[in-house]
Amino acid sequence: MKLYDTLSREKKEIPSPSEKPVITMYSCGPTVYDVTHIGHMRRYVMDDILKRTLRFLGYDVRHVMNITDVGHLTGDDDTGEDKLEKGAAKRGKTVWDVAREYENQFWHTMKELNVKKKDIAVLHATKNIDEMISIIQTLEKKGFTYETDEAIYFDVTKFRDYGKLSGQNMEEKKQAVRDEVHVDSAKKHPADFALWFKRVGRFADHTMHWKSPWGDGFPGWHIECSAMSMKGLKTKTIDIHTGGIDHIPVHHENEIAQSEGATGQKFVNWWVHHAFLQVDGEKMSKSKGNFYTLNDIEKQGIDPLSLRLFFMQAHYRKPMNFTWDAAKAAETSFKELIDVYHNLKKNVGTDTVTDQEKLTGGAVFFLEQFRHDLSNDLNIAGAIGNMWFMLRSNDIPERDKLYILDTIDTVLGLNLAEQKIAAIKIPEDVISLTEAREHARSNKDFQKSDALRRQIEEKGFIVEDTVDGYVIKKK
Ligand code: AMP
Ligand code: ZN
Repeated sequence: MKLYDTLSREKKEIPSPSEKPVITMYSCGPTVYDVTHIGHMRRYVMDDILKRTLRFLGYDVRHVMNITDVGHLTGDDDTGEDKLEKGAAKRGKTVWDVAREYENQFWHTMKELNVKKKDIAVLHATKNIDEMISIIQTLEKKGFTYETDEAIYFDVTKFRDYGKLSGQNMEEKKQAVRDEVHVDSAKKHPADFALWFKRVGRFADHTMHWKSPWGDGFPGWHIECSAMSMKGLKTKTIDIHTGGIDHIPVHHENEIAQSEGATGQKFVNWWVHHAFLQVDGEKMSKSKGNFYTLNDIEKQGIDPLSLRLFFMQAHYRKPMNFTWDAAKAAETSFKELIDVYHNLKKNVGTDTVTDQEKLTGGAVFFLEQFRHDLSNDLNIAGAIGNMWFMLRSNDIPERDKLYILDTIDTVLGLNLAEQKIAAIKIPEDVISLTEAREHARSNKDFQKSDALRRQIEEKGFIVEDTVDGYVIKKK
């Protein structure tokens, strides 16, 4: 498989499973101080597709993700407020309650999108403080740090390759200008970043704090990922490290500096960065207020797995625009796929293909194409396009199609075999209108039944009359 690596700026071949049976993968997890929106989910679903793809191609994948429940400051640099403390103050709750509630919401959303928690080793920042302290001590011994009254900083001028991931000139690094900005006057370079914050000054009342060789305090955000990735994956060099493109210039640059500074070894083999889900050309984000949650999606009668299918329609490195029309189109596609799957199941009956060797040439060709698409930097959108082409082909027997769908669903994760045909959630008022229309039709009041049909359509549904009665479908 070829996977694009942000650091080398090229698609780089992953050695075959016989040469490299196990792939270690780390995903920067969420900061659990506020709601999870579907923008977040785009990247976690794509991580899941990447992991499933690697398994489909024959690798064994070990996947670790962290939960940031302390230390992530607003603005990603060292100048803002702790996001958790801010979230707690906003809601009049404790930081611990806020962290727990939003983490629960995050996992609920993940589950609905069929990203399985049990398939990920999850590490919490607040439970891995000792490991972070230990790396900071190593960095201290190696001369990468300096101490001020407020914090222990990583001195970026000591790390020769600083900036290699983003290709940013160090001189371009400026402190962000924002309301909550606080600059430590003893900090030597704007790009230096805190490894440990002391519980003094603006953080004198910081709720979460631990003892350390530098006094009471809490870790910086970046050190969390270095500590938890190496601990969770039991390696100094991780194969795949994923995150949003927003992490390239600061967070991941800093992860590299402190990890490679401490271990003297390459930190990551493939840096995978996801582009954003956008609304009208802008990043979907909490701060812009242009976000939707899973609940908003479900309220529109859209199945969370349709959203999963929607995410698969774009390449992970390209921005993707969210519109309700596009989400509804994905819902229609998903329902169509379920229909196709069940029809195949009904027609094939017990005459299933059990052995890949028995597939016809067209089916084998499709599966090869599927592998080929995915092996090309995770071209899942191309693979989905080919899937529809294959399903519409007259040259592939139905039993082969069924076998293929079952096989590729291990990557798509749409749980096709478990979906019910009538999985569309039809609102009560649409059902009442449909029943009234049926009544009008049986009384031969066609004017009324036509008017009711139009009302149903206005609500986004259509009624089709079949020999078995009517069926309600999404428009
Ligand atoms: P946040 O909680 O806003 O810091 O976001 C957590 C993670 O989700 C970050 O790694 C972001 O890269 C990612 N993320 C946030 N918004 C989006 C979006 N609109 N599209 C894709 N990823 C996003
Ligand atoms: Zn991280």
